[in-house]
Amino acid sequence: MLLLEPGHTAYDLRFRVFGIPVRVHPMFWLFTAILGFSALNEENGTAKFAIWIVCVFSSILLHELGHALTGKIFGNDGHIVLYAFGGVAVHRRQFHHRWQRIVVLFAGPGIQLALVGCMLVGLACMGEERLEAGINLILALLGIPSQGPISLGLHPLLQRAIFDLFFINMFWALINLLPIYPLDGGQISKESLDAAMPGGQGERVAYGISMVIAALLTIHCIASANHVKFIPFLPAFGGIFAALLFGSLAVESWQLLQQHRHPPWRRED
Ligand SMILES: [Zn+2]
Repeated sequence: MLLLEPGHTAYDLRFRVFGIPVRVHPMFWLFTAILGFSALNEENGTAKFAIWIVCVFSSILLHELGHALTGKIFGNDGHIVLYAFGGVAVHRRQFHHRWQRIVVLFAGPGIQLALVGCMLVGLACMGEERLEAGINLILALLGIPSQGPISLGLHPLLQRAIFDLFFINMFWALINLLPIYPLDGGQISKESLDAAMPGGQGERVAYGISMVIAALLTIHCIASANHVKFIPFLPAFGGIFAALLFGSLAVESWQLLQQHRHPPWRRED
């Protein structure tokens, strides 16, 4: 999601996956811990907190591997950095073709949705009732009420891990697919609109869409935190963290829109 690579620190964790160098910035652990902190107040809190950290780490790494591995297929190697509540896959050079850029952008959220699909297949292999409970669980996460059971009938900690993986991978993928710049969806929207309306017009439209949606979601998150539903068809979600994220993205899009309305080379007119 992030476009800029954070600086190196002495506490970075470094390793390789499928030959792709991965660097984990200390801020990643801090943000993940803050977001999962409430689990410590529950029964078996330490184990649930540890499950949350492992699930976030593996899910965000999977997302960035989706980008990096697809880039590698197109002959463009790269590396991954996990930072704050997100990450970045940095490719060695620009992709020549627009369609390649779009496929690489889709691959991050796409691999996460594929994981959710694989998990549902796994539950189906364990019985029809478990599949039904898994689907009900996903519907509940999306704010769609269902009458059926949501208990998978597994060990509570395994059930918790499955719940966390569904939650992180569904939400991370869906939020990343929103046409908000510089999320993956926002970059896809910019690429697509630029192809349809070349010469900068498409980019301006993409930044405008990005600004409006990010602003609406900021209000929705603040309203949700105050138990008010702002966008009727959306589940109540987000708190101050999500509001700050969408708010800063709305401001960023507004700034990009201003830059594109008044490009430096046309400032005199
Ligand atoms: Zn991404």
